[in-house]
Amino acid sequence: MASYRSSNDVTLVEGTKYPDQFADFLEFLCEKYRMDRSRLFVEYSSRPPPPLKGTRAGYYEGLLSYREKSGHSEFLITVFKASREPLLTLAHEFAHLVKNLKSGNFDKHLGPPDDTAERTLDNQAINDLAEFRELDRLS
Ligand SMILES: [Zn+2]
Repeated sequence: MASYRSSNDVTLVEGTKYPDQFADFLEFLCEKYRMDRSRLFVEYSSRPPPPLKGTRAGYYEGLLSYREKSGHSEFLITVFKASREPLLTLAHEFAHLVKNLKSGNFDKHLGPPDDTAERTLDNQAINDLAEFRELDRLS
């Protein structure tokens, strides 16, 4: 994936400046869930976040996208700067990715949020962040 800076400061993957602890937390998640780092790209984006689909007001704080490239799959997690808790947003999207990889289902893309599933992933994200902070405190 190419990296460049444009004049309107769209931040793309490499060259992205992550918030505090973001990169360490990403490493932690990759290790915990044995994610192949070479297939995962994470951007912290200053673009305006897309509004939620469905009837609810609000916007997406993060997105997970997926593409096939020469026979293997690549994943992109976008965390928007508008996110109130970038680390939790990262963990939440990561949880989607882990779930999708387990089920092999990547179809439900940007549908209206499924509240029960979202809450489960939120809880997983909160636990992952707490575990990371605990390790960080002990080191
Ligand atoms: Zn979600």
